[in-house]
Amino acid sequence: MSRRIFEEELGRETVFRDASKLLPDYVPPVLVHRDEEFRQLTRFFRPVIDNMASQRALITGSTGVGKTALTMKFGAEFKSTGAGKKLNLDYLHINCRKDKTLHAVFMKLVQHYNPRWPYRGLGPEKLLDMVVKYLSSHDIYLLLALDELDYFIQLNGPDILYSLTRAFEELGGPNRISIIAIARDKGEFLRLLDPPTQSTFLHNVMPLSKYNSKQLANIMNQRVGDAFRPGAVDPEAVELIADVASRWGDARLALELLWRSGMVADRERSDSVLPEHAREAKAEVYPEIKKESLQDLNYHEKLLLLALARRLKISKQAYAITGEVEKAYAVVCEEYGEAPLKHTQLWERLKKLGELGLADVQPSGPGQRGQSMRASIPEAPVVWIEKELVKQLKS
Ligand code: ADP
Ligand code: MG
Repeated sequence: MSRRIFEEELGRETVFRDASKLLPDYVPPVLVHRDEEFRQLTRFFRPVIDNMASQRALITGSTGVGKTALTMKFGAEFKSTGAGKKLNLDYLHINCRKDKTLHAVFMKLVQHYNPRWPYRGLGPEKLLDMVVKYLSSHDIYLLLALDELDYFIQLNGPDILYSLTRAFEELGGPNRISIIAIARDKGEFLRLLDPPTQSTFLHNVMPLSKYNSKQLANIMNQRVGDAFRPGAVDPEAVELIADVASRWGDARLALELLWRSGMVADRERSDSVLPEHAREAKAEVYPEIKKESLQDLNYHEKLLLLALARRLKISKQAYAITGEVEKAYAVVCEEYGEAPLKHTQLWERLKKLGELGLADVQPSGPGQRGQSMRASIPEAPVVWIEKELVKQLKS
């Protein structure tokens, strides 16, 4: 029986040609709409190629604006330029949310150059020393991308950036490691650093803006030909997805919705992806609000959103005024044994939730005194938000 099901399914028509072209890790041969940014990165790092002068840059932007993809593309180009110029240029991309300790990051460096080095029991500084000596003796200049560095520094503090400078000072000779730091928010990231380290990034900051609906449609259309069979995607389905995803400017969400729409079309035995499939896919992804965007929040943002969700759950209303939210937040903080943020900071966090599309924050209208505001969660059931946040806060 299982054999028959297996064969039946394999024999079934599918709208896909190669669904892997829609996966988040796939980097397309060309990035549309990021030429200017690529050019800017080239200018930032030109001194490395011209004068072996180490550089640092900071790339910022919200989820799915192409920070990782752009950096990887640039890194690949940087590395291959060296060959033509007889320079040993190298590139390494480390996701510091996955490798979340100093030791793990420096291990990645060590393993990149020699997986067989005896590294057991060595502390992070020793690991870095090995790499620094290796770079010097092989005359290599490395461009190191530290992706999601804001998470790392929130967790471990900014020592990693000092270590990377200090190592070369101790050895003498040029600093052979240039850095691309990737973070969500410029202000928040820089605040985690001390002024001298801040200034090493300050002149080379590149914010990536959110994609608009048209750009998202172009990004999807660029992949449609490779990912789907000819004619298997109704352009209106793409438009609809672009509209949904444009609220966050998030290409990752757009591509995920496109992939899911294809899955829905297959499930429903349709020979093409239609707007109705896109709508279903959207409902599946759960709502406009996804787990990952909740994961992206810092601790107090989660506590605050949890407070808002609970307040709305209890009141059964669409909105809560900020005074109520603040009270609910104080209760949640007590529950989690955290000192609550001060009013202005809390207000900033709330605005941030609004910008991320997780909450909707607006003036509570005439008739209310002062700058009273109200907040809501328009895009997902509050019960779901509460459940998900409680789970995340536990881990
Ligand atoms: P971020 O790191 O900012 O969260 P990513 O670089 O992971 O975003 O991009 C999310 C997804 O969207 C990836 O699959 C990436 O390949 C794709 N993508 C982002 N920007 C573009 C673009 N300009 N052109 C084509 N694909 C893009
Ligand atoms: Mg990324």
